[in-house]
Amino acid sequence: MVKVCVIEGDGIGKEVVPEAVKILNELGDFEIIEGEAGLECLKKYGNALPEETIEKAKEADVILFGAITSPKPGEVKNYKSPIITLRKLFDLYANVRPINNFGIGRLIGKIADYEFLNIKNIDIVIIRENTEDLYVGREKLNDEMAIAERVITKKGSERIIGFAFEYAVKNNRKKVSCIHKANVLRVTDGLFLEVFNNIKKHYNIEADDYLVDSTAMNLIKNPEKFDVIVTTNMFGDILSDEASALIGGLGLSPSANIGDSKALFEPVHGSAPDIAGKKIANPMASILSVAMLFDYIGEKEKGDLIREAVKHCLINKKVTPDLGGNLKTEDVGNEILNYIRSKLKG
Ligand code: NAD
Ligand code: MN
Repeated sequence: MVKVCVIEGDGIGKEVVPEAVKILNELGDFEIIEGEAGLECLKKYGNALPEETIEKAKEADVILFGAITSPKPGEVKNYKSPIITLRKLFDLYANVRPINNFGIGRLIGKIADYEFLNIKNIDIVIIRENTEDLYVGREKLNDEMAIAERVITKKGSERIIGFAFEYAVKNNRKKVSCIHKANVLRVTDGLFLEVFNNIKKHYNIEADDYLVDSTAMNLIKNPEKFDVIVTTNMFGDILSDEASALIGGLGLSPSANIGDSKALFEPVHGSAPDIAGKKIANPMASILSVAMLFDYIGEKEKGDLIREAVKHCLINKKVTPDLGGNLKTEDVGNEILNYIRSKLKG
């Protein structure tokens, strides 16, 4: 039986993850182990990621993560983000972030706008390096200066770029684009781009590269120009939040953090303190992360059924306020669950 360590975290993590677990249990037999992490956990035990949670995560085959609230800068000494720690600990080097509008249109703003914005399919997959770059946590403060080290390794670049091309081949994608800033960051991004240019020769698939700043513009202006994107950690972090706006925002953006022996699934969004406790968070990103979990364990048809159920809710405007609807988190979870049940019966 597949063991799943479920870490809800803080804020809306506690509201969306239970809906995702409902879908998980409906479609399979899993052993669920619950673990605590985040700011509340830090206040309770003095540790945002207790050893007990790490042990549970080690024991599990996969991790389902919600979101955590970070303490304010300076509030906690030597704070380490639990999610970054988990990514590093299990070497979850590939962060896969699909941006898909299910062919419905540009889901910007309210659902009433779906019909007006007649844009082509948006189907982009951002593959973000997940262990290096400015997120290695090497920051120093001298008297007059704060310095952050940016680490890009050849090995790290080879495995993420190799992962992106393999992903593209397996999923019948047409193109892989490398996003970088090698015109200025000539050494670090220079290395990343050089590795990309070497690896692309081994694949019979279109490959190109763009600078990150103009990409930020083109993602909005010409999103249909992109297919698979491979990029470094911080650019991938920022571009994926940006791209989520094309499909209705963070409430619809799932992700997978994949390593060689373990994977963690989580919505791209954070704990959303502005809406936490109101029970109006969109659970779709977390539920779509469960779909990615099924893909990962080799049950893609169950992943596809979940995606079909989400699309059904979008088309029928069974959505939370972020998409202009008036349903609660739990109502959307139940709509998706009922659709899945009706399909399983039929
Ligand atoms: P956020 O993603 O939590 O929220 C950004 C905006 O999107 C907010 O207006 C929020 O209401 C909205 N939003 C996000 N998810 C939504 C959903 N499912 N349904 C409806 N609306 C949604 O980002 P933030 O506000 O910049 O950060 C809040 C906290 O989350 C911070 O402490 C940050 O450090 C943390 N964070 C954690 C993670 C993680 O756990 N992986 C990721 C990002 C941010
Ligand atoms: Mn982020």
